[in-house]
Amino acid sequence: MTQVRRKGVLNDASHEDVRRDAWPVALLPFGATEPHNTHLPYGTDTILGSEVAARVAAQCIADGTNVMALPAVPFGVNTTQLDLPFTINVMPSTQLALLRDVIGSLEPHGVRGLVLLNAHGGNELRALVRELQPSTPIMLAIVNWWQAADHATFEQAGDHAGELETAAIMHVAPHLVAPDRHTWGDGRSNPSTLEGVRRGVAWMPRRWTQATVDTGVGDPRAATAENGAAFIAQAVERIASFCCELGAADPSRLWAPAP
Ligand SMILES: [Zn+2]
Repeated sequence: MTQVRRKGVLNDASHEDVRRDAWPVALLPFGATEPHNTHLPYGTDTILGSEVAARVAAQCIADGTNVMALPAVPFGVNTTQLDLPFTINVMPSTQLALLRDVIGSLEPHGVRGLVLLNAHGGNELRALVRELQPSTPIMLAIVNWWQAADHATFEQAGDHAGELETAAIMHVAPHLVAPDRHTWGDGRSNPSTLEGVRRGVAWMPRRWTQATVDTGVGDPRAATAENGAAFIAQAVERIASFCCELGAADPSRLWAPAP
């Protein structure tokens, strides 16, 4: 946790900070509470979603668009990890109800665009947006933050607690990473026994305790804080530039023939 009050972070803001400006864009990070291999904290997704949101808001404010980072939703969809201790699952239908209420709370206060800043693969937010967009004037958008920058930064980005997420936490919260790299699981995972799933013809949710050894998917051991910093910086720049665009966008003209 930083020792400064960050502009554009609602958890840090006073009523005075909020009411003296217009806030056309809000960011809602979606995290999760689940094990991340043997070396990263349960809060990894929530920590990263919150931090990226705060940096995006700061960048946008510096660029002239007021963006407010809302508190992160700390629980995600984890229906396939319930046999792992202290994994906290919320159902997609619960997320839908929560998002509907958040949108309803923002609507009267001049927010024109809401960006769902997703940090957890199990949170499939598109269905929620498809259901809610027709009933709100707020423009809804989704960014999976870990897909917003170039994976070429890493030897193998990995899927869950792999090199990408490990590098990101090493940059943002190094004190939460298990210090001895030799204790980190290697992120080995098991393929499906069904050929159709292996070939990508069909998708089935992974039963985590069967599909993984240490709950991680992807080898984290090449991760460095420098790579994490570079990846986050690139993601923040791209997401911030989108948020600034969204703040100025005309909702009645989001698609048009190319000039
Ligand atoms: Zn994660």
